[in-house]
Amino acid sequence: MNLTINDTLKWMEKINGKIQTNKKYLTSLDQAIGDGDHGINMARGFQEVINKTTIVNYETVSDCFKDVAMTLMSKVGGASGPLYGTAFLKMSMAVRGKTSLNKELFTTAINEAIMGISQRGRAKEGDKTLLDVWQPILRFLQEHDSINWDDFESFAKNAMEATKDIMALKGRAAYLKERSIGHLDPGSVSSYYLFQSLAEVVREGEE
Ligand code: ADP
Ligand code: MG
Repeated sequence: MNLTINDTLKWMEKINGKIQTNKKYLTSLDQAIGDGDHGINMARGFQEVINKTTIVNYETVSDCFKDVAMTLMSKVGGASGPLYGTAFLKMSMAVRGKTSLNKELFTTAINEAIMGISQRGRAKEGDKTLLDVWQPILRFLQEHDSINWDDFESFAKNAMEATKDIMALKGRAAYLKERSIGHLDPGSVSSYYLFQSLAEVVREGEE
């Protein structure tokens, strides 16, 4: 893995593409166990990310992550904006000054992102939040010296799908208690798109 500035920009483009395509789907998931704005929030946020990052000439990956973070925090309402914003801000701090990221550094960045998300949202793995995708992904990165990106992608998908079977303990879905069981967590689905996009970018770079 060698994620360059250009790869990082491609990563954001891909995330945005998947989110725009699935905007209605994400919203329908949130209609089932939340307030029905997750697709709208994420679509607005990542469109703003693209608007911002495509007009700046970045010298480091950290500067790019920082702009992503600031944009998501300022443009996205709801819980997900500040949470994803915090994730990218922590990632930016973890890779300060770097022009490309290897697997070790990227893993450190994801670890920091998770600490930021859980501090901000006071959630942990098993609460049926996006951490149920981020935390298993962190373990996958830690446990594999060389990453098979197809496996990485299906691992993220399985983690996302597993949120269906658990009861929400954090976020709006927690108000539904047992009734949240049987529904996917919307934030875990958007996080799956994020990691799926990463796998696509890294695979394309390795071709
Ligand atoms: P809101 O819940 O404010 O309407 P969104 O609908 O955009 O915001 O995002 C909902 C998603 O945010 C949930 O599906 C969940 O993954 C995530 N989420 C909500 N609360 C928390 C929390 N306290 N910690 C971590 N993630 C959370
Ligand atoms: Mg919502």
